[in-house]
Amino acid sequence: MLYQNSALIPQLCGIIHQHVAISFFDEQGCFSNVNETFCRMIGFDTQELIGRPLCDVCPDAPIFDLLTAKDHWSGELLMRHKSEAPFWVNLYLHTLDVSPSSPHHYVAIKESIDERKRLEHAATVDSLTKLYNRTHFNNLLEFEFSRQQRNRQHASLILCDIDDFKKINDTYGHLFGDKALRHVADTIAHSIRKHDIAARWGGEEFIILLPDTDLEKALHVAQKICHAIAHAEFQKTITITASFGVTQLRRSDNTASWFGRTDEALYKAKQQGKNRVAH
Ligand code: GH3
Ligand code: MG
Ligand code: MG
Repeated sequence: MLYQNSALIPQLCGIIHQHVAISFFDEQGCFSNVNETFCRMIGFDTQELIGRPLCDVCPDAPIFDLLTAKDHWSGELLMRHKSEAPFWVNLYLHTLDVSPSSPHHYVAIKESIDERKRLEHAATVDSLTKLYNRTHFNNLLEFEFSRQQRNRQHASLILCDIDDFKKINDTYGHLFGDKALRHVADTIAHSIRKHDIAARWGGEEFIILLPDTDLEKALHVAQKICHAIAHAEFQKTITITASFGVTQLRRSDNTASWFGRTDEALYKAKQQGKNRVAH
């Protein structure tokens, strides 16, 4: 086979080094060698990297733990450029068998996936509130809906709409309104569990999917958020409140009927006087 022709191997190595970021580590996880492509990617020169621990430039790297179980590991990791700017890489880490008596060495091969990550982020996250956007939420909802129906688990939806938001914009201005939206989004994000999924549904409306959660528990979560919004530090002089509709998934539901019932519950909360939870 052509690539096994020994005369070609040095040429192939040269080409690989030109295009692929490669670094070597000792047993302590410190850089023992790096190629120029890696230096360009990370912004440091060779001297600045040799002897330095990988965790200096890759704080979340759990890779050396993982290598105790396996001889290779690959995954997406956030690295830090010399300028402090974070960037994403796809990392392939392998144990090198230098000699049976010598300590282990590791080689890491990295490709930048920063652009792809940036695009993925822009496509899934609402830029104002940093919650998921509606499109991404709908994709997650379809997935969770099938999972919960298949496993016959409970699941609940909460729809939240800020009360009299038009008046807030009209009185305090659009920029203040944006700040209020971020504040409500942060309150929601801090009030839910890791597996719950929150999104900005539209203008001043938010939606939360609570997997493995029955109506009673979901009502409790909605009450907690409703209270936190109405009593937040944020409003020294004005009061912001929101209304909530809550429903539990039924066996007969599809995603549209489930959302429809949640929207009706929200409407009920508005009709009953706002700043409250209805189901
Ligand atoms: P209700 O209590 O019945 O929900 O009344 P409301 O005033 O909250 O509802 P309405 O639908 O009449 O008004 C929603 C307002 O939200 C109108 C729109 O200008 C504002 N809005 C939508 N998106 C944004 C945004 O991104 N930033 C700001 N500042 N305002 C927004
Ligand atoms: Mg609305
Ligand atoms: Mg509103």
